[in-house]
Amino acid sequence: MQETYDVVVAGGGPSGLQFARELTDRTEFSVAVLEAHAELADNDKSTGGTFEQVIQGYDVPDSVVMADSSGVIFEGPSTSERLDIPGYVLDFPAFLEFLGEDIEANGGEVHTGVRVTEPVSERGSIAGVNCLRDGAERTVSADLVVDATGDSAVLTEQLGMFDRDSAQRGIGKEYEAVGEFERDEMLFRFDHFDAPGGYAWTFPAGDGVFKVGLCWIDDFYERHRTDASRQIDDYVERWAEHDDRWTVDSVRETHAGRVYSNNSINTRAIDGLLAVGDAVSSINPLFGEGIRPGMESAEMAADVAIDALRAGDTARSRLAAYERQWNDEKGGAWKLQRAVGELLYDFTATQQDRFVRAAGGMSPTQLDRLQRYELTIPDLLELYPFRLADLWKAPTLARHL
Ligand SMILES: Cc1cc2nc3c(=O)[nH]c(=O)nc-3n(C[C@H](O)[C@H](O)[C@H](O)COP(=O)(O)OP(=O)(O)OC[C@H]3O[C@@H](n4cnc5c(N)ncnc54)[C@H](O)[C@@H]3O)c2cc1C
Repeated sequence: MQETYDVVVAGGGPSGLQFARELTDRTEFSVAVLEAHAELADNDKSTGGTFEQVIQGYDVPDSVVMADSSGVIFEGPSTSERLDIPGYVLDFPAFLEFLGEDIEANGGEVHTGVRVTEPVSERGSIAGVNCLRDGAERTVSADLVVDATGDSAVLTEQLGMFDRDSAQRGIGKEYEAVGEFERDEMLFRFDHFDAPGGYAWTFPAGDGVFKVGLCWIDDFYERHRTDASRQIDDYVERWAEHDDRWTVDSVRETHAGRVYSNNSINTRAIDGLLAVGDAVSSINPLFGEGIRPGMESAEMAADVAIDALRAGDTARSRLAAYERQWNDEKGGAWKLQRAVGELLYDFTATQQDRFVRAAGGMSPTQLDRLQRYELTIPDLLELYPFRLADLWKAPTLARHL
């Protein structure tokens, strides 16, 4: 590892790796990714459910796709609808390794086992990072630093760019199971019995392999749980074992993590530093999809970074073009989605069923908008199972808009 690079990326998840991939593919700038885990593949957070924008948009090879999914099933407590939204299930660790290999093939460096600890400032601008490798402290200097440390938000939090306290907090856990599984759709079940304040899922993952898990938003879990002694593992176990549509013979991996989602209109650029992915809460607040938005944020950031590096000027005045683009294209939509999420995960059982039925009645154009998170207000009104009793939620929701 050198002492100086043009660009240092902290964190080797999908967002940081895609940022480094864009840079190394399109320029000759020296780029190093610093990843805390011993291997990129040790990031065991994600289920890897994704859509064609990632597979086609970022040239993801078939070799890291475990399964194609022919559609999405939405289920409520007593209803089920199939939505014609095709998707893909990634082998997440293999996907990360593929991105890392691509970076190295283009002359970039990926250093694992390096824990970034703090930003280094010079004359008011970020000029590098301090990190730990094999217990030894190192300083690595760069013209541009990128925080892509996911929900650890190692640099953004210290720099006041990530407000953990105001974020909506969630948790997810899943098993990668071996057993009998006949479905070829991604199933999402909205039912407080299986996943209080969230949803449960099963995804196909190749012959005799599937992913079975659940997530919830902490506030709504508190409101909808019926047994405070049950932990998320108890729920995953019950969901895995007690639904007779599949049989778990063994669990070959577990994946888990926390999710922090704020209104996503964040500061994403300061002098000498950009932030991408979950380090600035790019994750979609409605369904907790983070790979696609994280990679999109990386691509947007890379376009601006390349111009800035070529101009020899990585001041915020230049880098903020990325922040403006994100806020215009996603930030406002994410604010609305957070409000919709707060309704969805607080629905009664009847509302969950009505929501699922309404989703099942959407036209192909509306489904395309749903998949892209571009639902219009009339779409949302059509989906929303209104109850007079929900009026008291209006002031809370207005805070997000
Ligand atoms: C259980 C679960 C299931 C999920 N399923 C899906 C799904 O099916 N589809 C989907 O799109 N999204 C899913 N998500 C969300 C998705 O995984 C994340 O949003 C996505 O991984 C974010 O990418 P990222 O690169 O921003 O951050 P991360 O993937 O979190 O990567 C950050 C990287 O930074 C490293 N790092 C952290 N601290 C340091 C440090 N100090 N120094 C150096 N490196 C550091 C970490 O080790 C990690 O490798 C899921 C999340 C959870 C918790």
